Amino acid sequence: MRQLFLYLYQNERIPMRKIEHLGVAVSNIDEAIKLYEKLLNTSCYKIEEVGSEFVKTAFFKIGESKIELVAATNPDSTIAKYIEKRGQGFHHIAFDVEDIEKEIERLESEGFQMIQRTPKDGADNKKIAFLHPKTSNGMLVELCQERN
Ligand code: ZN
Repeated sequence: MRQLFLYLYQNERIPMRKIEHLGVAVSNIDEAIKLYEKLLNTSCYKIEEVGSEFVKTAFFKIGESKIELVAATNPDSTIAKYIEKRGQGFHHIAFDVEDIEKEIERLESEGFQMIQRTPKDGADNKKIAFLHPKTSNGMLVELCQERN
């Protein structure tokens, strides 16, 4: 009976689909783009400013993966504060999910704390929401779902 329950329970699980991108905090986006173009030997395919977040982002494709460079456009931006405290470098991991609202609900029921309980518009045509790192062992996690 217990095994049957576990089997059914596991079959209801909808896993996160893939790592959508890795976010890298940088102080100067133009210099960082040049550096990453050399590092990855490919061109940046998109530069986008997200006004609501006071950030400018730049994206690179590496196979099925992406790297997102994130720089502050305002000293009050959370990215500016992050760099001030910890310096440039790895910032967040973003997972592609099928249904972001359901995923937020599921994560909250598992005890994770969201920074955004309601998804907002992010860069690269995505709906996004961040988890608070204090409930994910210090890891800043972003959920994203393609906007239609
Ligand atoms: Zn991101």
